[in-house]
Amino acid sequence: MNVAVLGETKPGETRVALLPSTVRELAKIGCEVTVASGAGVASHFADEEYQDAGATVVADAATAMQGAQIVVKVQAPSDAEVKGLPSGVVLVSLLSPLTEPELIGRLGKAGVTAFALEMIPRITRAQSMDVLSSQATVAGYKAVLVGANALSKFLPMFMTAAGTIRPGKVLVLGAGVAGLQAIATARRLGAKVEAFDVRPEVKEQIESLGASFLETEHDVTAAGEGGYAKELSEEQHRRELELIAAHIADTDLVVTTAQIPGRPAPRLITEEMVDSMRPGSVIVDLAAASGGNCAGAIDGETVVRNGVKIIGPANLPAGIPVHASQMFAKNVATLLGELVTDGELSLDFEDEVVDGTCVTHGGEVRHGPTKERLGIA
Ligand code: NAD
Repeated sequence: MNVAVLGETKPGETRVALLPSTVRELAKIGCEVTVASGAGVASHFADEEYQDAGATVVADAATAMQGAQIVVKVQAPSDAEVKGLPSGVVLVSLLSPLTEPELIGRLGKAGVTAFALEMIPRITRAQSMDVLSSQATVAGYKAVLVGANALSKFLPMFMTAAGTIRPGKVLVLGAGVAGLQAIATARRLGAKVEAFDVRPEVKEQIESLGASFLETEHDVTAAGEGGYAKELSEEQHRRELELIAAHIADTDLVVTTAQIPGRPAPRLITEEMVDSMRPGSVIVDLAAASGGNCAGAIDGETVVRNGVKIIGPANLPAGIPVHASQMFAKNVATLLGELVTDGELSLDFEDEVVDGTCVTHGGEVRHGPTKERLGIA
């Protein structure tokens, strides 16, 4: 069973889908790995390290794909890469199936068996394959560092001969995987942290990290299925905005992570709220790519409004490529362990993980929920 690792071609992407250490792990299930030369360079893994781990390094992606039964990548394949994928090959990567229906259709037509890593079901058994979780962990951590770096103030308290500096105040909106990591990171930096989420069960998790949960007497809860949130009603949304408005003016750094799968991100910070903040304050909006939690946030850009920096960081995990790749590679290797038995491809579509994640097979878009969302159910 030959597994090809391609380099990433998307600008700014520094991660790699498999590490030299995972090459050794995959050998145990009968997989030989071929790496396109330079695939790991941006995340500081040299060709020689892959070779030392038993992989074959070839000149380029096209050569790596020839003779591969499985192709792994971080980002979705480019048009040229789709053309180079042999018919019948298994592709494992991020594919944005809900927002890139054309790509999924092309992969189906090309006879590729595509596994969209975003579709890993949220079940306990699949946690070790869940790239959304692992990469959200990286993003939550990095968001606080980016925000702290952009602030005109310290986050920790200082008691020095030059006087006492009060700790900075951080507000985290959305306390899922990224939000909880942002809270933990801000606490490690000594900030006073408040947080809010519409899933009430996270109150305890927020408090166990030493932050306080924003309380309201109104019902602003919307727990959905599989650990995700639902959209709030209009009235609930208004109440949430009132709650945030009452706390934000006094905040130095806001990190927003609120998302609803398949929907635009909920708007949690209005222009008026930004204007109520002190100049020099910072908002880091992790939902900027899906519409933004903060008014005016732009993915990949920093906008300054009345002295408040609104940062829409693009691809934060690429800013920590070694550990982001390490976690991503572990997720991918664990998934490959579900697809390969004794060096042979064995796809069990009765299995929840295989069924939930495989979006094209046998020349077709096969996944029910994906088809529904693409309007071809
Ligand atoms: P996500 O990225 O979809 O959303 C981030 C957070 O935004 C969520 O906590 C959500 O409740 C919150 N949110 C949505 N609308 C909001 C609003 N209007 N105001 C404030 N917050 C809002 O979610 P995620 O971080 O990927 O995961 C959420 C939860 O799912 C996790 O905390 C975890 O409990 C669960 N989970 C389970 C597994 C598993 O079992 N395999 C894997 C990953 C996550």
